[in-house]
Amino acid sequence: MSEQPHDEDCIFCRIVDEEIPARTIHEGPETLAILDANPLAPGHTLVIPRGHYETIQGVPDGARAAVFDALGRLVGPIERATGADGSTVGFNNGAAAGQEVPHVHGHIIPRFDDDGGGPIHDVIASPVSLTETELDDIAARIVDAVDA
Ligand SMILES: [Zn+2]
Repeated sequence: MSEQPHDEDCIFCRIVDEEIPARTIHEGPETLAILDANPLAPGHTLVIPRGHYETIQGVPDGARAAVFDALGRLVGPIERATGADGSTVGFNNGAAAGQEVPHVHGHIIPRFDDDGGGPIHDVIASPVSLTETELDDIAARIVDAVDA
């Protein structure tokens, strides 16, 4: 494990450093999973890299893989422990997307058949309507950006 970036003003870095208590449910060499202090549902869990990275694209390959691995390993036990019927698993990536703590954290939100919540597709109140040409153009621009 290499030296990881750290921000002493970051609440998640302080939890990693055990300066602030949290309900830890899983620890890995590059990740920590804790219960969300303000849960949307029982068992709402956050998986964070131990290093301070603000967005998903800033997380180096090994830690990024470790975060996804932890998410995948924890979803089943969280659903079993809470009796959930499913889960919403996702990231608010960047302030525009509602990310409140600028330290990457993946949410596992247990979902129940009658919880009244919606799918990820509901995060945009007024979805765009794009033409086939516009979709082709955006796809080409993203492919170019990936290759750059
Ligand atoms: Zn941090």
